[in-house]
Amino acid sequence: MIGEIAAAASRIDVAMHLARGAKTVADALGDAEMKFKIADIYSALSDAKAAIAGAEVGLAAKDKEIDRLKQQFQRMESDTVELAPYRFRKSVTDGQPAGRPFCPRCLEVDGYLILTERAKRSGPSVFCPQCKTNYNGLPNYGSDG
Ligand SMILES: [Zn+2]
Repeated sequence: MIGEIAAAASRIDVAMHLARGAKTVADALGDAEMKFKIADIYSALSDAKAAIAGAEVGLAAKDKEIDRLKQQFQRMESDTVELAPYRFRKSVTDGQPAGRPFCPRCLEVDGYLILTERAKRSGPSVFCPQCKTNYNGLPNYGSDG
């Protein structure tokens, strides 16, 4: 898709070059009406070129997000385990849940694996460093609090 966009941008450049050539001819002929029409064509091509550039940027951002989601999905499959309703890191020794759960809100709403953190040095409450949601009574498998 990026290749097709680059090809379209290249064809627009060619059309802009041709419009400049036509304007030079119109200038030489002293044809004011033709010069205005060519200026309109050039302006429309310039707008199209800007729109194509915007689409290319948007497409690159989508490709980046797709890559992130693929990595996230891979990580979800290989490195985490669900113990409903929470998802945890998977212990490398026994494949069981390890430590605190990932933030359920961030996972459900945004699709991000954000590990919850202890709100205080001791106590059962944890929070999400990303969305700042506080949780009480979440399970914890392990000694890291
Ligand atoms: Zn969160």
